[in-house]
Amino acid sequence: YTEPVITIDGPSGAGKGTASTLLAKKLGWHFLDSGSIYRVLAIASTHHQIPAEDEAGLLPLASGLDVSFETTDKGVRIMLEGEDVSDIIRTEEVGSVASKIASLPRVREALLRRQRAFKQSPGLVADGRDMGTVVFPEAQAKIFLTASAEERADRRYKQLINKGHDVSMPRLLADIKARDERDANRKVAPLVPAKDAFVLDSTSLNVEQVVEKIELFVNEKL
Ligand code: C5P
Repeated sequence: YTEPVITIDGPSGAGKGTASTLLAKKLGWHFLDSGSIYRVLAIASTHHQIPAEDEAGLLPLASGLDVSFETTDKGVRIMLEGEDVSDIIRTEEVGSVASKIASLPRVREALLRRQRAFKQSPGLVADGRDMGTVVFPEAQAKIFLTASAEERADRRYKQLINKGHDVSMPRLLADIKARDERDANRKVAPLVPAKDAFVLDSTSLNVEQVVEKIELFVNEKL
């Protein structure tokens, strides 16, 4: 017996975070936001002044990353070395550094065990780029959630503005496209749907519709 896993992969801004959080809540399962680990590592690399290209320098940082997820009444707080980094990790600048770091094979390898440790009873909903292809290939239900780049930039824009960040739409769209490009074309764990994934385009769907479609698929698989 192994605990059930649902994976939700896809490009940034496709709505994976919202959909997987809701789904995990409804099922009463654990939730892994794997992108936040890469983002926290990006912040740590800046603190320690290790360039995003320095694989050997980043390795010990990745293996020993002191990150924890604390559930509070305001949601999950992400802590790096005891400091709350929940808000700063969400900027596109951090996302961009995270995606550079994420292209390093040995760094990805070093983060595998940490991610797999989230698979616990009664089950796990895992959100990322390679959850269904690399980290949890055994997952019972795999979803690949996409949306047009324009729609994703628009959603990310609203999200960031709401959090009080100062953002420019053309810059955001360019950054998202660059990050897609890098994530899709890297040699290790590129952003591709798993062979057995349900591919869902959320461009013209709202959150409720996305979750409903995912639930229908999941119910068939579990
Ligand atoms: O999902 P999020 O936008 O927070 O992820 C930030 C970056 O981390 C992505 O652009 C991607 O390069 C990397 N990532 C990854 N594999 C994952 C999750 C995120 O390579 N499973």
